[in-house]
Amino acid sequence: MSKKKQLDGIKTSKKSLGEDLQKPLQLMQAIMASTNHLMISTDPEGIVTSFNLAAERQLGYKASNLVGKKTPSLWHDSAEVAVRAKELSEKYGIEVNPGFDVFTIVPQREGKETREWKFWHKDNSSFPGSLTVTCIRDELGHITGYLGVIEDITDRKKTESDILEARKFLKLVNDNNPDYVFVKDKDFKIVEANKAFISLYPKDKQDKIIGYTTVEEYAPKEAEYFLEKDREAFEKGYSRTLENIEFPNGTMCVIDTQKIRFENSKGEVYILGIARDITEKQKLIENLTDSNEKLEYFAYICSHDLQEPLRMISSFSDLLKSHMGDKLEKDEVGKKYFKFITDGASRAQNLLSDILEYSKIDKDIQKKEKVNINNLLKAITNDLEILLNKKSGKIVYQNMPEIFGNKTQLYQVFQNLINNAIKYSKEGEDAIVNVEAQEFNDSWQFSVKDNGIGVEKRFFDKIFDIFQRLHQKNEYNGTGIGLAICKKIVERHGGKIWIESEENVGSCFNFSWPKSKEEL
Ligand code: ADP
Repeated sequence: MSKKKQLDGIKTSKKSLGEDLQKPLQLMQAIMASTNHLMISTDPEGIVTSFNLAAERQLGYKASNLVGKKTPSLWHDSAEVAVRAKELSEKYGIEVNPGFDVFTIVPQREGKETREWKFWHKDNSSFPGSLTVTCIRDELGHITGYLGVIEDITDRKKTESDILEARKFLKLVNDNNPDYVFVKDKDFKIVEANKAFISLYPKDKQDKIIGYTTVEEYAPKEAEYFLEKDREAFEKGYSRTLENIEFPNGTMCVIDTQKIRFENSKGEVYILGIARDITEKQKLIENLTDSNEKLEYFAYICSHDLQEPLRMISSFSDLLKSHMGDKLEKDEVGKKYFKFITDGASRAQNLLSDILEYSKIDKDIQKKEKVNINNLLKAITNDLEILLNKKSGKIVYQNMPEIFGNKTQLYQVFQNLINNAIKYSKEGEDAIVNVEAQEFNDSWQFSVKDNGIGVEKRFFDKIFDIFQRLHQKNEYNGTGIGLAICKKIVERHGGKIWIESEENVGSCFNFSWPKSKEEL
């Protein structure tokens, strides 16, 4: 319907009014036509006198069909109206009919009433609305009619129900979260706490937690520490503590607590505290560290002590060989067996010395010093001279930095990587090894790149595990410990080691080495 027609629809007895009264009437007509609120006016008996465009649109009826009729039951919910009628009857002690009176009895007494109702569209769909009914009175105070203004509150209701759902979900999470969750205001008082947090207090105190600063139940030193961490979170936005605590209910725990500052929509500042009981985890770590230490000590003792009998086998084999002299030279089978013995002893010696190195890593890690990588690489080049000559190898590097670390261990990492780069070179091709360094803000990154046989992608992780080899000892000799040593050393220094490689093209081993305090 056009605006013009709608204005006609809400026409009242305009001609009977004086000229000066026509302006407010026109203004009212304009408001009724342009507002999104549904506006319906009636006379004192409920006969519709006007029905605006929004009401037409929202309820599906035409003003021209309704003006002059008593119709509220068309769009109201009869069950809801009946319930309200009963309520009002009880409230005022009079019989209120479940009809038009239900909407006017309160406005008659109090001037107006705002209430939420369910409204029915002509097509049988419904929507929630907030209806304000106001009495229209003449100058003598007599009621000349009622104005009903309905606001469609579908969106508001949806938001309210979303909020309710979100609250329900939050409560579910909070009630079942084993972490201790709490919110403190700027006076350090608890304003929210989850079930787990409340359970930390004796039964008789649990209903008093909200409003507590929580420190009331702790020893003064502990309490002051809590507050200090609260203050830190308020000032810096975040604080974290790892501590042994005796809770008010008597349990002893290792607790990891994070406090995070936040602001509510009014700009008020709070801290959210999340404390996690890590007692079990700490115990496991301690047990694991303990058994690791014992295992490493065991490996150290074994490899150290087994070296002596192996040295005896080697040296007495040499003595026996010279003692037998010509006899052995002529005995092909004896010579073969003899070689098995000496090769086996030398392999076992290599293996033991690698295991010894591996088990010593944690012991040596503390000894840090300034290490010149240029000098280190020069020394490695000298030590690998025989292998380099055999493989026509070359180690290329320039402008290497000075870094902080354990010199022996840095030597081991570079030596193992370079040794492998030459050892796993391609048959009949010169082994070229490029060593490079790259500086980052808080770390160094080194790479040892070769033009060798390469490694299949599926073995990229495996080769760093202890005793993992991709070749038989008659193809390439080795113990399968070199890269495990590199990994352990690099990781103990806080770095990472990884490989990039393409089969038959070459490999590049990279490792990062965090800078120490002295370098930052
Ligand atoms: P080892 O060399 O004693 O066998 P490592 O731990 O040093 O033990 O290396 C493990 C395995 O990784 C090697 O057996 C080899 O298969 C592979 N590998 C290591 N370095 C390279 C390399 N530069 N090129 C190709 N393969 C390599």
